[in-house]
Amino acid sequence: MSDDKNTEVQEFQLEADAELRFEVENKNETVVLELKSGLAEIFGTELVKGKSYTFTTGAKIAVFTWQGCTIELRGKKNVSYIARETPMMFYLNCHACLEQLRQKAETDEEVKRGPITMVVGPTDVGKSTLCRILLNYAARMGRTPLFVDLDVGQGQISVPGSIGSILVERPATVEESFSQQAPLVYNFGHTSVNKNLQMFNMVVTRMAEVVLERMQSNKKANTSGIIINTCGWVKGDGYKQLTHSAQAFEVDIILVLDQEKLYNELVRDMPTFVKVVLLPKSGGVVERTKRFRSEVRDSKVRQYFYGGRSPLHPHSFDVRWSDIKVFKVGAPALPDSCMPLGMKAEDHMTKLVPVQPGPNLLHHLLAVSFANSGEEDVIQTNIAGYICVTNVDVENQTLTVLSPQPRPLPDTVLVLSDVQFMDSH
Ligand code: ATP
Repeated sequence: MSDDKNTEVQEFQLEADAELRFEVENKNETVVLELKSGLAEIFGTELVKGKSYTFTTGAKIAVFTWQGCTIELRGKKNVSYIARETPMMFYLNCHACLEQLRQKAETDEEVKRGPITMVVGPTDVGKSTLCRILLNYAARMGRTPLFVDLDVGQGQISVPGSIGSILVERPATVEESFSQQAPLVYNFGHTSVNKNLQMFNMVVTRMAEVVLERMQSNKKANTSGIIINTCGWVKGDGYKQLTHSAQAFEVDIILVLDQEKLYNELVRDMPTFVKVVLLPKSGGVVERTKRFRSEVRDSKVRQYFYGGRSPLHPHSFDVRWSDIKVFKVGAPALPDSCMPLGMKAEDHMTKLVPVQPGPNLLHHLLAVSFANSGEEDVIQTNIAGYICVTNVDVENQTLTVLSPQPRPLPDTVLVLSDVQFMDSH
């Protein structure tokens, strides 16, 4: 059956515990999904019967049903199939265990807080998806967990090159994920952790302190716990970094997706009170190429400034070079013998260095710090957001910037990010 030459309408009958997987592959295409009967969910968010959900290019979706359902897909024919083997039962069991721990935190005075869970695994095993499912299930039970995203490459809060945390008060929307009201964001400035491990660890430590404090000051969040997403660098220094994050956030549970080696290493190295659980990955998780990842990053930045389904109207204005203070993190390396007494060569990686504005800033994102001056510990201060340098006028010594907010105050500290964005609007 088809609406017109290009649009196909396909209907799928799903038995209980099955999932329909599909991708929107081609450029400028959309697929519209409708639940016709039964109950179904997408990564833990329940679908409303009869409502149309629209997915755009790049979407990789699984519609799962615990009870059985009928689904309709409208759009140009894309890859779609029904899978009967899924790890959803394992994921639901994890949720049930977390829920028990939350109940304990509510009723048992000896238990000070709800579970702090970290999800780890190599790239493309469904870490972000598992976080989303667990957060959604928690929110559907009336919980308000904190979500921490430490994935600087493909993170879901703010823009690439940052880490962030949000309070999840309701399930994610099917098409746009969690509401991002009042996120706590720290700038890292790179899309790979290995670009500056010392700085990353420093920022993670600081963010953990703030998140744990916030958790304590909100009773409901305190019993609901935290779900932490991580990036897929799990070997060598990447592994050490994960153990650093685990320690900083005082995690109780580590969910390891797909990799037995990583699981065994963590069982060996974590203190005994940390529960390490190995979980299978879903056969539906789609491997993403470098190019696709970079496109996703780009669209994340575009969305940050211009919005998604509900468009945003960013401001564009000129600032004089002399009116802004720009810094970057990391000074050129010096050998230990040239360092002042007591400093190690690696300390230069967390040094704040002034940057002279000029063509070097073109297309770069600049983090707008909440720090008042360069003296304050800018690296460890959270940020208000990002602006993007869209033009550099050398003659008049001005920059044109794109900003979600009106003009920042003149004394604002800006920190240069490696992340670039070509504004094509
Ligand atoms: P990264 O290494 O980038 O951190 P990840 O391990 O967090 O990746 P996800 O982002 O969760 O992996 O998943 C990768 C892609 O696979 C996503 O686009 C997601 O929508 C898709 N996906 C996850 N689970 C399924 C599934 N069961 N069926 C179809 N697609 C899925």
